Amino acid sequence: MQNKLFIGNEWRDATSGQTMEVVNPATEEVITAVASAGLDDLDVAVHVARTALNGPWSALSARERGRLVRKLGERLLERADEIATLETIHNGKPIFESRNIEIPAAAECFEYYGGWSDKIMGETIPVKGNHLTYTLREPIGVVAAIVPWNFPLLLAAWKVAPALACGNTVILKPASQTPLTALALAEIAVEVGLPPGVLNVLTGPGASLGQAIVEHPGIDKIAFTGDTTTGKGIMRGAAATLKRITLELGGKSPNIVLADADIDAAVRGATVGIFYGKGEVCAAGSRLLVDTSIKSEFIDKLAARAKKMVPGDPLDPKTRFGAVSSRKQMETVLRYIDSGKKEGATLVAGGARADIGTGKGFFVQPTVFADVQPGMTISREEIFGPVLAAIEFADIDEAIARANDSPYGLAAGVWTRDIKKAHYVARKLQAGTVWVNTYNVYDTAAPFGGYKQSGFGREMSAHALEHYTQIKTVWVDLSL
Ligand code: NAD
Repeated sequence: MQNKLFIGNEWRDATSGQTMEVVNPATEEVITAVASAGLDDLDVAVHVARTALNGPWSALSARERGRLVRKLGERLLERADEIATLETIHNGKPIFESRNIEIPAAAECFEYYGGWSDKIMGETIPVKGNHLTYTLREPIGVVAAIVPWNFPLLLAAWKVAPALACGNTVILKPASQTPLTALALAEIAVEVGLPPGVLNVLTGPGASLGQAIVEHPGIDKIAFTGDTTTGKGIMRGAAATLKRITLELGGKSPNIVLADADIDAAVRGATVGIFYGKGEVCAAGSRLLVDTSIKSEFIDKLAARAKKMVPGDPLDPKTRFGAVSSRKQMETVLRYIDSGKKEGATLVAGGARADIGTGKGFFVQPTVFADVQPGMTISREEIFGPVLAAIEFADIDEAIARANDSPYGLAAGVWTRDIKKAHYVARKLQAGTVWVNTYNVYDTAAPFGGYKQSGFGREMSAHALEHYTQIKTVWVDLSL
């Protein structure tokens, strides 16, 4: 397990000597202490990233670059057991999710973008006069990827893979709580032969290191995933140097169940929608909108299902519900649960901290509130935990209006057997992703990103390539 900064393919302590503890949220034990980078370290990382950009990295052919990006994914899969364990111990998610879903998805992302490297093309343009006019799609330069703690490796892959595939160099800053898998990715960079400086990993606090990255004049682009308030600060901070930015931010995603839905399938979908990843999922279906005519049956079935989801040891392969990522996050979630109770919502499942028999760990019971009114705090603010707010509606247009009544617009779901209603609702929802009769499905080939205050730019798919390239137009006078 690495715990130093990774700069120019070398492992270094922070210049200041400072470190930060990494805590296992399921046991409350300190796993290790990692280096806490400061401004001096950042300057060195920017310098080596720039040198690699202008040197060995741009000297490689696009195909060779793509091959190296694909190798990152192949090696990730070879080391999947070990890296999944790291993901689980610093995040608290079940090993089942880390090993079978997150690490393979991260590997697939490198495979997918490695395939793009030699297919990123310019165009020839039929202009007026006697000119040959064509475009080049060039890398943006030094890209900083700043990622949160909920899917530490996967969200890093969503940025690092397209950035490298397009010929940029990268400084990756993982969240303070979950730096271990980013450092493992750095080891893999050396193993597959990435030239020094192409991928650098700086661990450190967001408020100091993250802020310094955003303001650094030697960095050309910020690819950020995190909280909406942090995203607004990044937008302000990037203005001074006019950095390119893409922001994947928070959500309060509505999951709508119409009266004609397959109720059992929708109950399963609502459960996966909110409790997968302990609800620490930006696209979590945290607002359940259910037709009044089926509400009682639906809520009964949903509550029964939630009560069967028992938090357990994340390292046990049978566990499907792990620990909330930190004490601070657990306290936030419990505060929201209290506000739901105080504001008059009906608690039908969970509602408290859980104990898995060890007396330790930041576990919260899967929680469902019914009779939630649209103005209540739990129906408006992103909780980022296993808490579902169920709201009733009388007809389809009321459902759409309530769904769209949020500053966020990351994702949404609709459950119905009526194909016309499905498409009608899908078009009306203000969200970057709409799932019909399913929830929380993703694929590297499909774009993902926000409407409204859930951010802008798209991750995954060919669309992400637009955010990691810039277009140069070349005019050649052909007149004799
Ligand atoms: P956060 O904004 O606190 O932190 C995210 C990252 O930004 C971390 O690496 C952090 O150290 C860094 N950071 C913090 N302050 C900074 C600053 N002032 N300048 C620069 N960097 C700074 O978010 P979090 O609590 O780690 O993550 C949870 C949030 O992420 C939720 O709001 C969730 O919805 C969102 N999220 C969004 C998506 C998406 O794709 N839209 C995916 C996952 C998570």
